[in-house]
Amino acid sequence: MECPFEKVHPSQLLRDDLFYMKLAYNQAIDAWREEEVPVGAVIEWEGEVIAKAHNRIEGTGDPTAHAEMLALTQASHRIGDWRLNGCTLYVTKEPCPMCSGALLMSRVSRVVFAVADAKMGCLGGAADLNALPLINHHFTISKGVFEAECRELIQTFFEKKRKSQGQKFDD
Ligand SMILES: [Zn+2]
Repeated sequence: MECPFEKVHPSQLLRDDLFYMKLAYNQAIDAWREEEVPVGAVIEWEGEVIAKAHNRIEGTGDPTAHAEMLALTQASHRIGDWRLNGCTLYVTKEPCPMCSGALLMSRVSRVVFAVADAKMGCLGGAADLNALPLINHHFTISKGVFEAECRELIQTFFEKKRKSQGQKFDD
């Protein structure tokens, strides 16, 4: 199933939320090219990208190989500490229960996601783990960055997948 979308090329000069989310979007395109659900993530620390990853559950056969989980592991190795204070994670879709929990455990300072997920999102979509009252770490959340593009990517993926599976079924 070929990916009809192209990668974007943000200017390196302006390193704002849109810049980092576009890098996450490019990761999501890499996911699609490997027949994975197109979700991508990057982690920024002190103005540098210290992790970039995309969903790899099919390729690894590992249900924990979500973009955010892989990015957290990369960032911890890079920094040499499991505590990711000062880091911002950008991801193209609202984190699931597993990833939202891991983000809290990692103590990232900020999470930015593009598309909300009313079914599985746990940063305000279906539930909000960041709002648990008794935990001693919270991060700030921003959403809606590069949203239309990230939504179109993932929606198109599922539409095409449904079509190709429907054809198989009809045969
Ligand atoms: Zn997840």
